[in-house]
Amino acid sequence: MEIIQPAYLAAWHRRVSVLAEARLRLSCAHTAPTPYALRPPSVIFSAMSQKRFLNAIGRKGDGQPVFGTGTSIACVELMHETGAYFPQAHLDPEQMADLAIAGYSVLGMDVVMPLFSVCHEVAAIGCNVNWGTSEQMPESGSPIFRSAEDIVIPPDLLHRPGCRVPLEAIGLLKKRLSGAAAVCGKVFGPWTLAYHLFGVENFLMGTIDSSSATREILSRLLPVTLAFAKAQLDAGADCLLLADHATRDLCSPGAYRDFLLPVHSQLVREIAAPLVLHICGNTSDRIGMIEQTGMGCFHWDTKTGSPAEVRKLAGERMALMGGISNYRLLQGTSQEIRAMAQAAATAGIDVVGPECAIPLKTPLANLKAIAGK
Ligand SMILES: [Zn+2]
Repeated sequence: MEIIQPAYLAAWHRRVSVLAEARLRLSCAHTAPTPYALRPPSVIFSAMSQKRFLNAIGRKGDGQPVFGTGTSIACVELMHETGAYFPQAHLDPEQMADLAIAGYSVLGMDVVMPLFSVCHEVAAIGCNVNWGTSEQMPESGSPIFRSAEDIVIPPDLLHRPGCRVPLEAIGLLKKRLSGAAAVCGKVFGPWTLAYHLFGVENFLMGTIDSSSATREILSRLLPVTLAFAKAQLDAGADCLLLADHATRDLCSPGAYRDFLLPVHSQLVREIAAPLVLHICGNTSDRIGMIEQTGMGCFHWDTKTGSPAEVRKLAGERMALMGGISNYRLLQGTSQEIRAMAQAAATAGIDVVGPECAIPLKTPLANLKAIAGK
């Protein structure tokens, strides 16, 4: 049976009333005709989610639950709610911002994040991306490089639509939220970029056959991550999710130590903003190494273990984000999701939210239940 601690419940109610007020202001201010049914207007909210979120990913929370994720919160029902649909929400800055802001205005999270797919950088580099439909996530198409020497970063990378659209959306979100909720950008690390640009199998075979060629690929792709990160911060992002799919199935603990620990440490040193590393799958064998990179926050997958186990593995310095299973989000009940959120917060998860990009068929009621809506 679900048992909710009184202090947690009281904090939750306070949060819900602040969010209800913000929703009310949003609907009152909605006067101008718009192409979308519920386009969020440019209003200044009085909520303080931005500060609370940034404190939480710096492990300086005040004990009240903080909600959010640096990965996609887009599902078909949320597209209906906002009137902003895939694939346009990948390709048009206004629609991208409209869908992203719903993370705050509809779901009650403390952060918004507009890059819903894994394809923006690789589209700008030259991959032939299929941007999908409202019920299908984009895919990056055939690999375009075979060796490190093939890597050419277009000089106008940041001006190509793959990068320019999310940069403009970040600017819009910053302006519309005026500090009410945090704006999180998203960049991919060179390991994930290589999956798309070289093909997963080709790239991983290379890590076994030639470690020097793999290092060369990573070092030639690192400037893409750094340039896109800097541009997102310049556009107004408060923090960045750094996604690098070094999951256990695709990257052994030894490979993480040899190839990625130095790269992730370098990204921590060179990106002047709070960073949240996201890695899918079971990461119990590498959380200790991730902590050594100096990463401020780690966004973990529930395959890793219970919130209490993950907190123990991570130690006390590094903040943690996640705690809600995507499978349960898709299949479970709202009551079950609320209980998971409570369990994660009480176990020391600093930002409670979905473990990864949510499935597009996720019921909106379950998504709202995370923040108690
Ligand atoms: Zn993931």
